[in-house]
Amino acid sequence: MIHFKSCERCKGDVAQTSDWYSEYLQCMQCGWAKDVSGDPLTGLIRSVIEPAREAVLANCKSS
Ligand SMILES: [Zn+2]
Repeated sequence: MIHFKSCERCKGDVAQTSDWYSEYLQCMQCGWAKDVSGDPLTGLIRSVIEPAREAVLANCKSS
């Protein structure tokens, strides 16, 4: 879904997309992004999962 001229930074066109964690908006002109999942836990979960995932990947590479 595209929201025309709704970027808060440059008034460009913003695409609404989603990934494994959440829904978010991203400007196609300047790259501005905003999380719109509306779930306060999402940011917390993400901040815990991401470092853990990085650590696992690092271990896999070194072994
Ligand atoms: Zn923009």
